[in-house]
Amino acid sequence: MEGPQNFKGMRILVVEDEDDIAQLIRFNLEEEGFLVTISGNGLDALSKLERNLPDAIILDLMLPGMGGVEILKKIRAKFDVPVVLVTARAGETDAVLGLEMGADDYVRKPFSPRELVARVKAVFRRKGTLRETATGSIERGGIEMDLSAHRVRVHGKEADLTLIEFKLLQLLMENSDMAFTRDRLLDRVWGREIYVSDRAVDVNIKRLRSKLGEEKERLETVRGVGYRFRG
Ligand code: CA
Repeated sequence: MEGPQNFKGMRILVVEDEDDIAQLIRFNLEEEGFLVTISGNGLDALSKLERNLPDAIILDLMLPGMGGVEILKKIRAKFDVPVVLVTARAGETDAVLGLEMGADDYVRKPFSPRELVARVKAVFRRKGTLRETATGSIERGGIEMDLSAHRVRVHGKEADLTLIEFKLLQLLMENSDMAFTRDRLLDRVWGREIYVSDRAVDVNIKRLRSKLGEEKERLETVRGVGYRFRG
C-alpha cells in the first residue's frame, strides 16, 4: 500500500550535533525519498522551523546548549508537527518525559537507521490514515470529535490533542464500553510494525484524561485488562 514514492518530497528536519550520525540518518531518509535538513543545535533548529515548517522532526535529546527536552517544549508550544525523539540515555525518564510532552515516538541509541526510518514512516501513516479515512463526528457525553477537521471539544471547549491521543480517543469512543488490553491498543493505535512499550499507553491515557477535564472519568481503567470508554 505504501511505496517509497508516498514519502517523496516530505521534509524532515534532523536535529543532531554528531555529524556522522546525522549523515547516516540523512542517507537513509534520502534513499526513501525524504528531503532532509540537518541542524546541529536547538537555536538553529528553532530558527529553521520558524522559516520553513518541515513535515516531521527527528530530535536528538543529547545536544550542546539547549537540551532536546527544552527544544521539544518550545516546538510543542508553537507547532503541530510530528516529532520522533532519539535518546542515548539508558533510563526511560527522558523518553517518557518526551512522550508526555507530546513527542510522537522515540528510538534509543544505538538504533538501526532502518528502524528510525520505519518509525518516521509509521508516524506519517498514522497521520495520513486519520486524514484520509476519517469523516463525520462522534459524540458521547460532553465529548465531541470532529474526525475530518481533527478537532475535539469537551463541552464546547476545544481540547488540544496529539495525533496519538486523538487516535486513542477515537478508537475507544467508537467502541464505547468495550475494554481494550494495552497490547490491543498498541496494535490499533501505534501499529504492529513498531515496538512501543505498554508504558506509552498509560502515559497517553493519563495525558488524555487531563485534557478531557470533567469528562476524564469516562476513560476507565479496567483492572487486569486495560482501558475502556464509558459511553
Ligand atoms: Ca547528540
